[in-house]
Formats: sequence, structure tokens, C-alpha cells
Amino acid sequence: MALPKITKEFLREHGIRIKKRLGQNFLIDEGILNKIVEIADLSKNDIVIEIGPGIGTLTKKLAEKAKKVLAIEIDENLVKLLKEILKSYSNVEIIQADILKINLKKLVTRLPSYPVIRFKKQADWQTGRLADKVKVVANLPYYITTPIIIHLLRAREILSNIVVMVQKEVGRRMVANPRTKDYGALSLLVQYYTKPQITIKVPRNAFLPEPEVDSCVVNLEVREKPAVEVKDEELFFKVVRAAFEQRRKTLKNALSRARDLDLSKKKVLEILEKADIKSLRRGETLSLEEFARLSNLIAGE
Ligand code: SAM
Repeated sequence: MALPKITKEFLREHGIRIKKRLGQNFLIDEGILNKIVEIADLSKNDIVIEIGPGIGTLTKKLAEKAKKVLAIEIDENLVKLLKEILKSYSNVEIIQADILKINLKKLVTRLPSYPVIRFKKQADWQTGRLADKVKVVANLPYYITTPIIIHLLRAREILSNIVVMVQKEVGRRMVANPRTKDYGALSLLVQYYTKPQITIKVPRNAFLPEPEVDSCVVNLEVREKPAVEVKDEELFFKVVRAAFEQRRKTLKNALSRARDLDLSKKKVLEILEKADIKSLRRGETLSLEEFARLSNLIAGE
């Protein structure tokens, strides 16, 4: 169904005052909204979690394709409006909450279809039907992009895909390779748990009001198991953080000075040698595999 044209007048008529502090930039380009739904590749077996439904434009399109949409919006005024706008969509549940405070596993597991999700493979095999999957599809509020991604990855066992609009630079960091300026802790976090892809670039004039940055839509396909084998995940991410805390430092210096790790320079040099990684290299040159090797050797100490 085609959407009404969203203009400043439309917002005014509906009593909406835009809150910049909540990252409210509404997507008004119908072509891009359709593209996002296409990328999410939804079917009537899919449960969708939408973060920040705003004025419900994406929500409507998701509801038309998916079995169920759980739309989580923090702004009380928008929630009131959404309940009105979406009242004819029986498969949409609007939840007023801060996404970062919601336990997503609990939210989803109370749904009657959950057992199919939990035993995805088994159910497929036993019944021969397509299993339900949970996908996150959202135009994210940019002021909390990284905390949201971390929050979602903590609930990764219930998710198959995270299709989200992010600031262009953040998308580049997610897919970046070693030895590039965009490569950093976010690249490793995202690539460890998912296969990320930048799908479309979105200019700022696709939004009302226009943000000060360009955007892109990323599709993070959640891996069945992490990309590399790591003995102690917490330690692995501590090593990653230490290596990038001061990007220009050599690994020898960055790791031996990291308070989180408590390793002497001598120990760091021994470990780097065992890992076959030159001590003068910088963190930004290390691949996911090399970080895993390094942190597994530190874990064995
Ligand atoms: N989905 C709408 C669209 O595409 O036009 C709105 C997207 S807008 C970029 C971000 C939305 O996230 C806003 O509606 C905002 O109120 C909401 N939001 C901001 N912080 C939030 C939070 N912590 N939890 C849930 N929603 C939040």
C-alpha cells in the first residue's frame, strides 16, 4: 500500500514535535523503505523486531510481509500516534520502552511460536516446514548505534539477521578489513558474530528532517557460531580494545600498557613470538584469526 506523503505539515497536523535528542529523522523515501523490506527478505514465518518505529512508515511495510512485528519505541507521544495509525494491523505489537533496557530473549520467547525458533533445525527436520526466525529491521537512532548493536549481539541466539540503517561511516567500520583506516574494535565485534554487508547507500534527503550525515543499510547475517574459535570471549575483546585504544602504538606497547590485561612487556614479547606476530606491528594490521590466536595464548598463561 502506498504511504501518504510525509511533510512538515503532515507532522504538524498529527501534533508531532521532532525530538533531535532521540535521533528522530523519519525516512520519507518510499523507494528506500521498500528496498529495506526487500533486503530483510521477509515471509509470513518471520518475527520482526523494529527499533524506533517513529511514525510507523516502515512498520506498516514490515507488517504486510511478516508474521509478527514487535515495535519498540521510547517516545510516549509517538507511541500514542502509532497505536492510532497501526490499529488495523493485528500483527503489530507496540511496546513503549528503551530498547537498551529490554530483554529481547524474554520478549520473544513468550510468543507462542517460540519453540519452533529454539529448535530451529530439529523442527525443520521433524515437520518439514520453514522455521520461524527473528529479524531486526530498523532505521536506528544514531546517537546509540553501537550500544544497540552490542545489545542485539548479546541476544544473537534468537536472531538470524539485523538489517539496519546506520550512519555511512559506521557501516564502513562494520565491514572494514585490516590495514584500513575504518578497521577497529567495531569491525571485529561485528565480524566475529555476523557476516556484515553494506547493501544500499542512502542520501540525507531521504529523511525528514535531514540528518547531517549520509547513511547506509547494513545486513548483518548472524553466524551459527563465531567466525573464529576463542577460549575466553571476554579476554578476546579486552585484547581487541587494548590494541585499538591507541591506534598508533605497536602491539608490544599497547598490550603491555593495557591495565585490563596486566601483562609485562617481557610476557607480551614471549606471547607475540609464540603467536608468530611481529611485536612492532600495530593492532590495526591484525586479522580476526590473529586476534584469536593471540588472546588464546594469553588465556593459556
Ligand atoms: N522508523 C522511523 C523511520 O524510519 O522513519 C523512525 C526512525 S528514527 C531514525 C529513530 C527512532 O528511534 C525514533 O522514533 C526515536 O524516537 C526512537 N528511539 C530513540 N531512542 C530510542 C530508544 N532508546 N529505544 C527505542 N526507540 C528509540
